[in-house]
Amino acid sequence: MDVRLTDEQELLRRSIREFAETELRPHVREWDEAQQFPPALLTKFAELGLMGIQFPEGYGGAAMSSVDYCLCIEELARVDPSVCLSVAAHNGLGAAHIFMFGNEAQKQQYLVPLAKGEKLAAWGLTEASSGSDAASMQTRAVRDGESWVINGTKQFITHGKTGDTIVVMAVTSRAKGSRGISAFIVERGTAGFRAGKKEDKLGMRASETSEVIFENCRVPASQLLGTEGQGFINALQVLDAGRIGIAALAVGLAQGSYEAARSYAFERKQFGQPIGTFQSIRAKLVDAATRIEAARLLTYRAAAMKDDGQRTTLEAAMAKLYSSEIAVRVAEDGVQIHGGYGFVKDYVAEKYFRDVKLTTIGEGTSEIQRLVIARQLL
Ligand SMILES: Cc1cc2nc3c(=O)[nH]c(=O)nc-3n(C[C@H](O)[C@H](O)[C@H](O)COP(=O)(O)OP(=O)(O)OC[C@H]3O[C@@H](n4cnc5c(N)ncnc54)[C@H](O)[C@@H]3O)c2cc1C
Repeated sequence: MDVRLTDEQELLRRSIREFAETELRPHVREWDEAQQFPPALLTKFAELGLMGIQFPEGYGGAAMSSVDYCLCIEELARVDPSVCLSVAAHNGLGAAHIFMFGNEAQKQQYLVPLAKGEKLAAWGLTEASSGSDAASMQTRAVRDGESWVINGTKQFITHGKTGDTIVVMAVTSRAKGSRGISAFIVERGTAGFRAGKKEDKLGMRASETSEVIFENCRVPASQLLGTEGQGFINALQVLDAGRIGIAALAVGLAQGSYEAARSYAFERKQFGQPIGTFQSIRAKLVDAATRIEAARLLTYRAAAMKDDGQRTTLEAAMAKLYSSEIAVRVAEDGVQIHGGYGFVKDYVAEKYFRDVKLTTIGEGTSEIQRLVIARQLL
């Protein structure tokens, strides 16, 4: 077993880190306050292959592995978790669903512009009354000749307002329960498809999150994604992979928060010495570094298994659960180490603390990860 990265992977990490330091770091606060994903970033991300990280070159992607994907996500999240969430949702949900279950014509038509960063993806599973219990969704799609007519409202959709192409899950046969849900591709501009309320969020504010409304939205039968009735099952498979991305995001966020706290601990003096020389501050930093390393290894293991073509339901859930929970701890200790300065916006500690909470909620809460793990283990 070799847990070292290859030279190419180290180079990839360095180049994404350099990009994030130069292109993201100076704007983190401004984007957070504006609550807007800067559209100009899409082109820059696309130039680096970050809008189609794992998709084959034939579909406009960068053909990187799942471990490489984690490195990219980690390095973006280390500097700006919020912008990184948009990259992860685009790659790991909307575009991934089309790549995993689309037919060749759908991949050419919809995936290629997404992977090239010409368009932005969204993915609609959650509704106001169905989050963890996503299969109890109300959104319906009814077949009408050569079309499907979609009605319903999706909640908390990343890029619900700004996304160009959305994959939406809808009930096509109520009697069949979770096996009566299908996925559809809908493009912005389709009559009957519009964004609703944009959320004003605690954290991850540069990543736009909105309601999405379908009112007699008619799409041709060719926009059914995957097999009719398999949409929910496929969504769970998308989430198995997506959760590895959220685990990597949590690792990167924790790393950024830890580095900020470590620097501060050796700048800030109290009682005539740097606070980083006090044992209880050192213990926080040591625990953070150890937890991050453990989370990183769990995440890379899940990614390596995915690269190996193995099923990762258990490993992805473990990686997501552990990484997000330690990241919350690390970000909280980051604020504590900054004292009062951790509570104000002049320092990044408070932003990591706000952003991190999403990682224990999005793509399945910690409680749901424990349910998934229990089902696999027990
Ligand atoms: C910023 C952001 C971006 C998002 N992006 C997307 C997106 O792009 N697409 C999308 O489809 N969704 C998205 N979501 C939705 C997200 O996946 C859901 O919020 C999440 O799955 C939780 O669902 P919920 O909010 O309805 O909470 P609920 O399901 O109502 O859960 C409330 C609480 O009850 C607990 N709970 C629920 N069921 C159980 C159980 N069986 N056992 C124990 N505890 C339980 C939960 O863990 C949680 O603590 C996003 C959410 C946010 C905040």
